[in-house]
Amino acid sequence: MARINENFLKLKAGYLFPEIARRVNAFSDAEPEKATRVIRCGIGDVTEPLPLAARTAMKEAVDELGERESFRGYGPEQGYEFLRKAVAENAYPGLGVDADEIFVSDGSKCDTGNILDIFGGGQKIAITDPVYPVYVDTNVMAGNTGESDESGQFAGLIYLPCTAENDFTPALPEEKVDLIYLCYPNNPTGTVATGEQLQKWVDYARANDAVILYDAAYEAYVQDAELPRSIYEIEGARECAIEFRSFSKNGGFTGIRCAFIVIPKELTGSTADGERVTLHGLWARRHSTKFNGVSYPVQRAAEALFSVEGKNQIRKLVEHYMGNAALLKEACEKCGLAVYGGEHSPYVWVRCPEGMDSWGMFDRMLQEAQVVVTPGAGFGAAGEGFFRISAFNSRENVKEVCARIAKVLG
Ligand SMILES: *Cc1c(COP(=O)(O)O)cnc(C)c1O
Repeated sequence: MARINENFLKLKAGYLFPEIARRVNAFSDAEPEKATRVIRCGIGDVTEPLPLAARTAMKEAVDELGERESFRGYGPEQGYEFLRKAVAENAYPGLGVDADEIFVSDGSKCDTGNILDIFGGGQKIAITDPVYPVYVDTNVMAGNTGESDESGQFAGLIYLPCTAENDFTPALPEEKVDLIYLCYPNNPTGTVATGEQLQKWVDYARANDAVILYDAAYEAYVQDAELPRSIYEIEGARECAIEFRSFSKNGGFTGIRCAFIVIPKELTGSTADGERVTLHGLWARRHSTKFNGVSYPVQRAAEALFSVEGKNQIRKLVEHYMGNAALLKEACEKCGLAVYGGEHSPYVWVRCPEGMDSWGMFDRMLQEAQVVVTPGAGFGAAGEGFFRISAFNSRENVKEVCARIAKVLG
């Protein structure tokens, strides 16, 4: 008898997006005519074409592979040095991140899930609420939780509510925790953390011997030079934080797949007996055992994003999406809705009109405006009463969405 991992049975019926797809399909079957008008502002996927610098580098790399002299097979599991160096120099200038501390992968989704391989069970894990569902579900799969309650919260996790009342910056946990997931600029709330706020987390982590798992997938969207883009801008972070970054949202690599994580060499965890072990060493072992590297053309494409042209092309993409976010924010505000985020992130987080819950709002936007948004409750109990609009779209679609919002909610 092949026994299954029964932790999977604790998971809710679906990951949020399959449920959204199910409702959109049901709508299409019921209202085929209206369904042709549907505009998707739900899933956080980029829409604009791949930057030219990346395409050019990728084509050249493919041609190199077509010649015996320059053919390459398996690359280093950790990533080619050319890319790790480009990351260290360009993504972390002056922050003391060494190319050896960078591990290239095929995505932050996988990285944020896989990282649990190097941590033991039975620890206290803090997760902001609402949150990117991957952090929660991977902890459920790993057996780090009990069952979930009606609101979808799992026993054993420590939820840190992010609400309008606390400006979407969670209070430090009242109890001592061991692992903390933070994501800034935040998905789904679109809010950002200041250096002062992050310093409190780093101080907490150091005082409590905790590790911060810092997801900076949206760092390119930070518009204010005063706001931190990396946790390593915070004093003491190298002793307590792992950072996750991706080329998905800056370079539009959601379909190309390339990301990396940074594990400082001085960062350690503990055995049950109190022996200190470097997390870098454990991850290197894990990564080289279970992963065989990102493809060479993709790593060349990622490297090209750090060229002068690449940086310019990223800047234009970010400007485009941020222009969309500003329009969406304005359209919702004009309808009298309370709107958060959208200033340093491609997500606008909107409070539902009085008396509507977030799935109700999802259905209403679909039925009346044929706009697909994401219900806040899908990101956690504290997301109830909100919905997320993604700015990843063409300008034309965003303008149309704004017009429909004005018509339906105005
Ligand atoms: C999109 C996103 C990522 C990036 O995922 P990839 O697997 O690299 O495409 C990571 N974290 C969050 C919160 C995201 O929204």
